[in-house]
Amino acid sequence: MHASNNMPTSAQRLTSIYQRIEISAKRFGSGGVIPKLVAVSKTIPSAEIAPVLDMGQRIFGENRVQEAQGKWPELKKQFQDIELHLIGPLQSNKVKDAVGLFDVIQTVDREKLARALFGEISRQGKEVTCFVQVNIGLESQKSGVLPDDVVSFVNMCKHDIGLKISGLMCIPPAGEAAGPYFALLHQLAKELNITLLSMGMSSDFETGIEMGATHVRVGTAIFGARDQ
Ligand SMILES: *Cc1c(COP(=O)(O)O)cnc(C)c1O
Repeated sequence: MHASNNMPTSAQRLTSIYQRIEISAKRFGSGGVIPKLVAVSKTIPSAEIAPVLDMGQRIFGENRVQEAQGKWPELKKQFQDIELHLIGPLQSNKVKDAVGLFDVIQTVDREKLARALFGEISRQGKEVTCFVQVNIGLESQKSGVLPDDVVSFVNMCKHDIGLKISGLMCIPPAGEAAGPYFALLHQLAKELNITLLSMGMSSDFETGIEMGATHVRVGTAIFGARDQ
């Protein structure tokens, strides 16, 4: 007996996300640039990441340094063009490990961390692209630089520390329309001549693209609901 199972596979879901990104980019995006998909693989074991790698996806996001260290060194050996993004908070004592493993750190949010990153990136002689996380909805439970402080923070990173900031990232408040928050992030990036914008997750990545995202971070819509 053939047990019919209508659950799409992660590979099928990935294909549909690629299509939706392309459609949104063509409809709204500037200059026909297709935003990059950061496949958020936090809590997902390597065996479930493999089919997505087999589809050709190479950009992934993790939110914990330690968890990422358990999965990605091995996967990076198998696929040398993987681009790994840290999208969760970074403690200063994990900076060395984070710089060693990640290609992009999206969560620079304080001076102490910026200084530690600059020092470690110089020591390791590695290229790591840095984004500043912006607490776009002024939420006390979220990390990130407050919108009013972003311009001075980015300039401080650049001029006082020497750390180049290439992008801005935000997570808008849950349960609210994301568009106005994404528009504000876009505005801040424009003021700073920053070209990379990481905004939009499973439920709102098309809005992110509409507002100029260059990177969208999608987990659930590819891998399915997480256990925790
Ligand atoms: C978990 C996470 C995502 C992905 O969220 P989904 O709703 O599963 O797509 C994106 N960005 C950050 C910072 C996250 O922690």
